[in-house]
Amino acid sequence: MPDPRYDILFEPMKIGPLTAKNRFYQVPHCNGGGYRDPSAAAAMRGIKAEGGWGVIFTEQCEMHHTSEITPFIELRLWEDKDIPQLAKMADRMKTHGALAGIQLAYSGINGPNLYTKEVPLAPTALPIRTFTNDPVQARALDKQDIKDLRRWFVNAAKRSNLAGFDLICLYGAHGFGIFQHFLSRATNQRSDEYGGSLENRSRFAREVIEEMREAVGETMALTLRVSLDETIGELGFSNAEVRDFIEMNRDLPDLWDLAQGTWEDCSGPSRFKEEGAQETLVRGIKELSDKPVVGVGRFTSPDVMARMIRSGTLDFIGCARPSIADPFLPKKIEEGRVEDIRECIGCNMCITGDMTMSISRCTQNPTFMEEWRKGWHPERMNAKGPSSNVLVVGAGPAGLEAARALAERGYDVALAEAGTQLGGRVIRESKLPGLSAWGRVADYRIYQLSQKTNVETYFDSPLTAEDILEFGFENVAIATGSTWRRDGVSRQHVVPMPVDDAMSLFTPDDIMAGRRPSGHVVIYDDDHYYMGGALAHLLAQEGCKVTLITPSAFVSDWTNNTLEQAAIHRGLAALGVEIVLNRGVTGIAAGHVVSNCVYTDICRDVACDGVVMVASRSGNDALYRALEARQADWADAGIKSIKLFGDANAPGPIAWATYAGHRYARGLDGEDIGDALPFRREITELALD
Ligand code: ADP
Ligand code: SF4
Repeated sequence: MPDPRYDILFEPMKIGPLTAKNRFYQVPHCNGGGYRDPSAAAAMRGIKAEGGWGVIFTEQCEMHHTSEITPFIELRLWEDKDIPQLAKMADRMKTHGALAGIQLAYSGINGPNLYTKEVPLAPTALPIRTFTNDPVQARALDKQDIKDLRRWFVNAAKRSNLAGFDLICLYGAHGFGIFQHFLSRATNQRSDEYGGSLENRSRFAREVIEEMREAVGETMALTLRVSLDETIGELGFSNAEVRDFIEMNRDLPDLWDLAQGTWEDCSGPSRFKEEGAQETLVRGIKELSDKPVVGVGRFTSPDVMARMIRSGTLDFIGCARPSIADPFLPKKIEEGRVEDIRECIGCNMCITGDMTMSISRCTQNPTFMEEWRKGWHPERMNAKGPSSNVLVVGAGPAGLEAARALAERGYDVALAEAGTQLGGRVIRESKLPGLSAWGRVADYRIYQLSQKTNVETYFDSPLTAEDILEFGFENVAIATGSTWRRDGVSRQHVVPMPVDDAMSLFTPDDIMAGRRPSGHVVIYDDDHYYMGGALAHLLAQEGCKVTLITPSAFVSDWTNNTLEQAAIHRGLAALGVEIVLNRGVTGIAAGHVVSNCVYTDICRDVACDGVVMVASRSGNDALYRALEARQADWADAGIKSIKLFGDANAPGPIAWATYAGHRYARGLDGEDIGDALPFRREITELALD
């Protein structure tokens, strides 16, 4: 039954000349596919339309060739040739009555132009600000350049109109868009009428919006995305100044789109930011303008959303990650199926698709960006095949997702778990500092399984090959997880390192099982994702003196891709953890570890009472191997297939496990595609000359 408390979320809302059918607003978000995978990106947006979003935006679209952010793969609207692929996206967005929006970006001081080789243009001549500190400087825009830039925006608006979009978002948030570069005194040090006073600094935004409105304003709505707080001290565009700016330009855009200062702040992971964390920065802004306001905050709870509207804080509920984890979030609220929402866990794995220029994945929604490539729908599985039952061994993220998706297809599923809990590593890891929201990976699936009549769950069932051969299931899915290695094998060491048994040595599994070192602990991190940093945090919090040694130049290096690295380092430094970078560990002796410099190999001893070895993991594939050895007995046992997947097959992040479980479930009883590619892809059309 729909809950009347949430009716307010489904009120139609005006934006300029248009009306959104409800208050669910999918703000622009990257997906790693962009111009390289236009059909995959279009299909992904189309699924959101089906899921009930009132407004759906593209990711940032580079609107002129003089500003681009290669190597990152976004969209491009540089010439008419770019229109068809954007038109396809707009078309998919509008399939269920949503408004289609395009975010036009001119990256100014953030665009190194590595591809177009153009000289970057910015309000003030300064070095380009990128994640990779590219050795490129921008030239200051002169008056003619500003005129040209305004015209380029108008051209892009006309092309957006031709492509079929309803809304244009002008990007001036996260430190990334030229509008912010003009507004902030840090990046705008001009002494002409475009610099100095706030009125002058907002001149560029006023001029562009006025000219765009003249060109397309009758049919299109124009929104402005601005930073809520640049958080870089005195020079930055502060929250107070944002308020002054909005009050001064009350009705400039058709909607104010508010997002916190840096991308790291705005897309804060659950480890460091609660749901609705931007509330205090947003509250009161709505009163400064007559135009509607959208804000974000990893909203997954309809109660929080309704409160944001009722309290007069927001008019639209902006979502990026929650719309990725569950594209059907609005529909589920509308249909009174709140418990079916697949809540975002705030892990930021989706962002790594953009940061690594690959293609995004989502820990919670394995179908994200596979809607076109593989034809996967987040809410519908393919039809059941000829066999009837499956035994899933292991109830970690891989086994749980496989069981859920197989049951959805209509198979009779038996889920056997050696332990007393469902969730595997997710349950263990969600107890680490800041990771409790990760438990949602298990919560969602456990609830879905509880609603199915064709799933039986067996606890305390550590199965052997003999057991399985006796049971007689047609299909056996083995997702028995992985175990952290004790011997140091990872990247620095491809074979075991010397370890003296006299040293008290722990793996992450030991720590998560409750075993503890005492005194001075060395954490050796050659894994480089979150585990080393999280354990350092935990042990320091519990009173150990912690030294974290890593061969990398960063603590938890890979979390640069999840936008967490700086917060992790800051947190560990605040807890007094000694952070030792660019050093490895070559051996573990009775009272010390031997640590080498990764550049010079000069060694020194680091005295300690205990060592936590965060190296690599081994897949728990013994059960699978034992069954493999008995392949001759499968037919007599009634077994048609046995498959190993998830961490047991090849350890990886949790998102890899849910993907593997989903893929197994989709593929069961499927046709053998031989050597064919298991997904669709697009190839750039070859020029004729
Ligand atoms: P993944 O990330 O691949 O899902 P996890 O380590 O999270 O892996 O989960 C694997 C699960 O499999 C754990 O809960 C573990 O207790 C269970 N398991 C391992 N071996 C067996 C077995 N032989 N029989 C039943 N369950 C098993
Ligand atoms: Fe949320 Fe993680 Fe999915 Fe991103 S990858 S949408 S943060 S669950």
